[in-house]
Amino acid sequence: MNYLFPTYQRWEVEPVSAKGAYITGTDGKEYLDFTSGIGVCNLGHCPSQVEEAVISQMKKFWHVSNLFPQGIQQRAAKLLAEAAGLDLVFFANSGAEANEAALKLARKATGRPKIISFTKSFHGRTFGSMAATGQDKIKKGFGQMLETFIHLPFNDSKALLNEIGDDTAAVILEVIQGEGGINIAEPEFLETVQKACQEKGALLIIDEIQTGAGRTGKPFAFQHFNLQPDIITVAKGIGNGFPIGAVIGKAELGEAFGPGSHGSTFGGNPIAVAAAEATMETIFNDAFLQEVSALGEYLTAQAEKTLGALETVVEIRGLGLMIGIEVDGNVPDILSDLRSNGFIALPAGESVIRLLPPLNIKQSEIDQALAFLADSLKKLTRTAI
Ligand SMILES: *Cc1c(COP(=O)(O)O)cnc(C)c1O
Repeated sequence: MNYLFPTYQRWEVEPVSAKGAYITGTDGKEYLDFTSGIGVCNLGHCPSQVEEAVISQMKKFWHVSNLFPQGIQQRAAKLLAEAAGLDLVFFANSGAEANEAALKLARKATGRPKIISFTKSFHGRTFGSMAATGQDKIKKGFGQMLETFIHLPFNDSKALLNEIGDDTAAVILEVIQGEGGINIAEPEFLETVQKACQEKGALLIIDEIQTGAGRTGKPFAFQHFNLQPDIITVAKGIGNGFPIGAVIGKAELGEAFGPGSHGSTFGGNPIAVAAAEATMETIFNDAFLQEVSALGEYLTAQAEKTLGALETVVEIRGLGLMIGIEVDGNVPDILSDLRSNGFIALPAGESVIRLLPPLNIKQSEIDQALAFLADSLKKLTRTAI
């Protein structure tokens, strides 16, 4: 019996419980999970400090509406704003909603229509965030997209300089395209974007929904580059599994989002915000983030060593614990073979195996993961080019 719209191609593993980097299935088997719920459970499954924060808030109140001031929202917003070097936060419930709000804010604050984004980007599936997304497969069948969304080739400075102008409200980009295939922006390209935005008075929006929450070894991935975004958007890993998204922006944008301009019934829900506060208190910490960087370097180096020479492996790339292994083979088949052996990973783009392990993964678990990957990838024979 199926009562769900078939929007997702489901895997064959049904979880009954999960802890740390492991999921136990209804089949009684344990699976090593290098997906973290698609970059969400960055502290692993069911971390105790998040569980305690949620239970404690549940005993106070669950929902009162945004008509009431809520200290817990102020506390979580402070953590986000300070970690980002920005000033003001709007809470939403998801990544797409955060981008939707950011796009509305950019248009209202600048009074301009045009939004520039890039090919292979992913920004969500609402009409606005879908219009910003640079992948046809996401938009197919949904008719006319919103007006004045322009898509340019990623890492193409010249195309950007030709397009950006006095009618540009914002440029939105991921510094590492997650869904699009772990494609890393070139520093010179980002500098060009930053400078062009400043010169033309366009806002720079960085979509940190997948790259934020410590994933790359910094609170947000833009901090690896010489960037001063006007707005960043976050979701996924911020609440370690509780639905939350946020727009974080500069103080001068405050006026454009005055009372009545935007809102959300559930946005800033205290249970989700309690989860986010506990998650961020752990992640936005220098020692923790240094460990993420060290684990990322270990994973990349070991992957190069054990997988790099395989003829099916085209390239291994990434930053921190956001890693893509580009392969010459059928990714869904490889992932299915990995699952049957007890290892769960994600696809990205056309031909990339994406690894998003929990940020507190153990070295021994990384070793185990690479053994699973080597085993499956060695089985492949190179496909015809
Ligand atoms: C997942 C993702 C989104 C959409 O987030 P949802 O919570 O699924 O709406 C937007 N941008 C990026 C970069 C993402 O990875």
